[in-house]
Amino acid sequence: MARFIFITGGVVSSLGKGLMAASLAALLQARGYKVRIRKFDPYLNVDPGTMSPYQHGEVYVTDDGAETDLDLGHYERFTGVSSRQSDNITSGRIYRDIIARERRGDYLGATVQVIPHVTDAIKAFALADQADIDFILCEIGGTVGDIESLPFMEAIRQLRNELEPLQTLSVHVTLVPYIKAAGELKTKPTQHSVRELASLGIKPDILLCRAEHPIPESERRKIAQFCNVRAEAVIPALDAPSIYSVPQQYHAEGLDREVLRAFGITDAPEPDLSSWEDVTDRHFNPEGEVTIAVVGKYVGLQDAYKSLNEALIHGGLANRVKVNIRWIDAEIFEGDDDSQIIAALEPMHGILVPGGFGERGSEGKIASVRFARERGVPFFGICLGMQMACIESARAAGFEHASSTEFGPTDAPVVGIITEWMSAEGLQSRAEGGDLGGTMRLGAYPAKLSPNSHTSRIYGGAEVISERHRHRYEVNSAFIEPLEKQGLIFSGMSPDGLLPEIVERPDHPWFVGVQFHPELKSRPFDPHPLFAGFIAAALEQSRLV
Ligand code: GLN
Repeated sequence: MARFIFITGGVVSSLGKGLMAASLAALLQARGYKVRIRKFDPYLNVDPGTMSPYQHGEVYVTDDGAETDLDLGHYERFTGVSSRQSDNITSGRIYRDIIARERRGDYLGATVQVIPHVTDAIKAFALADQADIDFILCEIGGTVGDIESLPFMEAIRQLRNELEPLQTLSVHVTLVPYIKAAGELKTKPTQHSVRELASLGIKPDILLCRAEHPIPESERRKIAQFCNVRAEAVIPALDAPSIYSVPQQYHAEGLDREVLRAFGITDAPEPDLSSWEDVTDRHFNPEGEVTIAVVGKYVGLQDAYKSLNEALIHGGLANRVKVNIRWIDAEIFEGDDDSQIIAALEPMHGILVPGGFGERGSEGKIASVRFARERGVPFFGICLGMQMACIESARAAGFEHASSTEFGPTDAPVVGIITEWMSAEGLQSRAEGGDLGGTMRLGAYPAKLSPNSHTSRIYGGAEVISERHRHRYEVNSAFIEPLEKQGLIFSGMSPDGLLPEIVERPDHPWFVGVQFHPELKSRPFDPHPLFAGFIAAALEQSRLV
């Protein structure tokens, strides 16, 4: 049976628990262990799919079609282990399932309660799907003391009692703030947070202390004493120069050694950190740089495009260049005057239009595609970005009102709602105007590539690829012929030949639009070929401008 590491956070939110969990998993993996990471989200949404990216950041989609918290993206990027439906749960999903069972009569005669029904469901989720896994890391969203997270804390407490003594571990992530006026680091918030956790019956084994200044040995001992842990188990977690440095930094502070010690494991091999050394070497010693414009909607919050940001950096790692990203609000390109777009996009080495929802900013995105097409600037359109590229080409082909039905009625619906498609489970159908939660075309689907196309070369000659999707609309195949005549080639289709997956322009140095989200599968040590190719093209472009 697997060993379990429960990761809680205290003092404040945004301490980077997700990154910490991903880094610890990466360190255990570097020692040869098999890991999985799970996220427990205490909010009442069934999944984050219906939340605004401004509220919650990006929605990360797994191969098996779960819409999950963006921390699962960190987990995948740091471990290369693909997440599953069974790796993210919310209070909303637990309550939905329990209430459905109650209505069915599964609990007939019983009073349905938080303890044991909700806590049992949480425990079952933690324990599920663990064949061949050495360590399961469970990150609890939120901060200790939140009302919403209480059932999760209670479930952990029970599990720590029920499983074997050396089978579970509690890691608590806290903040050790620096008070400038006093010139001191303060340990009191950590002490309070540990006390709060202890009042819920959970005694932490390891404290990971986020701090902006080095924690002196005396303070480390003080935290240990007041919080009832070994001094060596108080791990300083100083701000890192890059997220890619975090695993090596935590290793240097002894995190993985302390975790293994707490489990009583004495014969673990030393970690092989060579792939992380290679990643940080490429990251900190670039041999050039490129600047990419991302013309989108949710540019005010970088977390809204978390995986995209990372995948662009990975493309840079593949080419040993630094990638500067200019986040541009598409709305500023709307209007009759082209001077704004020229001023903003002329210095760029590549233009990317990312995924998104709704009409706002769409004309600005279409204008950016036109600029990239006419000027021969490398262009990458992702999901909504591909749809905008098709609309732009349709307008160039004379369909003056070409648009998407997502934005309202149009006489040239180049993009329209998908109501039926084939999945591995069989025919999927959706009603127009049906539920919005969990009803998109979600998860991994295969696409067939045209032989000798630019995209098939990018994918190393592959005939069939598998990529993750999250969309409700698709390019209308009635427009394939006129679009191809205009120069936009459909080089990837669903295996039944019905759904357009990839477009490209042979008359352009690098112009690719994809209906899926390749950024979700890019890893620092295995950059996605489309991002590696896009950045290579941007590097070429940087030599021209
Ligand atoms: N809004 C578009 C659709 O639903 C694109 C979605 C996306 O970019 N993820 O098809």
